[in-house]
Amino acid sequence: MPHLLAIDQGTTSSRTTLFDSAGKAVRTAQREFPQHYPVPGLVEHDPEELWESQLLTLREVLAFAGAEQKKIAAIGITNQRETVLLWEREGGRPLYRALVWQDRRTADFTQRLRREGTEPLVRDKTGLLLDPYFSASKLSWLLDNVDGARERAARGELCFGTVDSFLIYRLTGGRRHVTDVSNASRTLLFNIHTLSWDDDLLRLFRIPREILPEVLPSGAPFGETDPALLGTAIPITGVAGDQQAALFGQACLAPGMAKVTYGTGAFVVMNTGQCAALADGVLTTVAWQLPREGVCYALEGSIFIAGAAVQWLRDGLGLLASAAESEALARSVPDTGGVYFVPALTGMGAPYWDPFARGVICGLTRGTSRGHLARAALEAIAYQTRDAIGAMERGSGVQLRELRVDGGAAANDLLLELQSDLLDTPVLRPACTETTALGAALLAGIGGGVLDLEGVARQWALDRRFIPAMDARRREKLCSGWHRAVDLALGWDRLA
Ligand code: ADP
Repeated sequence: MPHLLAIDQGTTSSRTTLFDSAGKAVRTAQREFPQHYPVPGLVEHDPEELWESQLLTLREVLAFAGAEQKKIAAIGITNQRETVLLWEREGGRPLYRALVWQDRRTADFTQRLRREGTEPLVRDKTGLLLDPYFSASKLSWLLDNVDGARERAARGELCFGTVDSFLIYRLTGGRRHVTDVSNASRTLLFNIHTLSWDDDLLRLFRIPREILPEVLPSGAPFGETDPALLGTAIPITGVAGDQQAALFGQACLAPGMAKVTYGTGAFVVMNTGQCAALADGVLTTVAWQLPREGVCYALEGSIFIAGAAVQWLRDGLGLLASAAESEALARSVPDTGGVYFVPALTGMGAPYWDPFARGVICGLTRGTSRGHLARAALEAIAYQTRDAIGAMERGSGVQLRELRVDGGAAANDLLLELQSDLLDTPVLRPACTETTALGAALLAGIGGGVLDLEGVARQWALDRRFIPAMDARRREKLCSGWHRAVDLALGWDRLA
């Protein structure tokens, strides 16, 4: 494997990682950047702050590489998905702040479209749901609310892009206005079957074609870095949204293979190969498109609160000093003593999709201790993941054989034991849990023609395998209790 550079532009920080010829991360630079919350429900990023933070990490890693820079074969980009930017084609000046995926300002708009009965069309073409989470309604908002934007867009003076697209535009000195299929598939404007922007969807959201980036496969020549910027021209040959990149970095290359990333939320993604399977309660998305192998689809279950449930026990209740302490505390008891914690703190995502759900802790007795609550929080992460996977299995007809895990909370052995028990499936933690950046680097290797899929599969190494050890009766009893608790959480805020 050659040296590869990964740009990982996340929601709260920008990172750059250098991978050496053994696929090992030898240097990472990271910068946080400000989050802007003008009023509750709105979430914005300043495109210049985002760009500056990314550029600084890139320069830092290149300075570290020094003379070795010449060995860097390619750059891969992975990014927070769905976030919307609009900038001037000449010169690249942003017209407005980036509207972040979490931003809910277009909830009424998407709800109106849903009432008009357009969701089946949208779901059919995009594999997604009508939700402000995705890009289209936000782009429409920008065109309606930024002075003169619609007229200028129609004249071809403006560029729309997700974060990958904006970074490539800037990195190439404004020469390239492109994106990749995995990012395009999160916009609600892209037909995942024909792999092209869709006129019906463009009409629905009133988006002029003139502002759209060209869509390329995930491994492809996206452009070269402008030497005026970095002192060197490095080809950008791999691009994918963060969850798709993680699936690739986990080498889930065959249909039926799946990974979950346990971070603030949890994202379960299952490779479904060339079949764009639909499953109730989860999204269908493009995993990637490669020059030789073509397109690969995936099912995705987004769980809003996972590690954040542990965070809440720490910061909200002061029950823990650190997230890592949750493991020892939860191990201090043999089970939760009948306690369930449904952490629907911001509604529930897959497979329930209920914005009115609220958190519930139930089954309390006089004997309930901190240990029981900590254990219930870890179990909740595992139950939610199990529910998402169940929806995928029902929709795709594919039975999960093993689950690969990564993200901050994958350090918790007890969580992985519980996950394996509740799924009745082996859970595998790789040696490298920086799978998102690794996936971007590997895609760049493929796009640059210096790596093949066997090479991608070969770099995956096991740290530890967790084998199920729970009998079926107990599993069923626990899961039925969990579902009773979920029923209490669903719709709670609507009743209030
Ligand atoms: P993100 O990328 O979403 O910011 P990370 O992958 O960095 O998240 O993971 C951080 C999350 O994982 C936090 O919510 C934290 O509470 C949780 N976490 C980190 N370590 C552990 C642990 N050992 N056990 C349980 N949860 C953990």
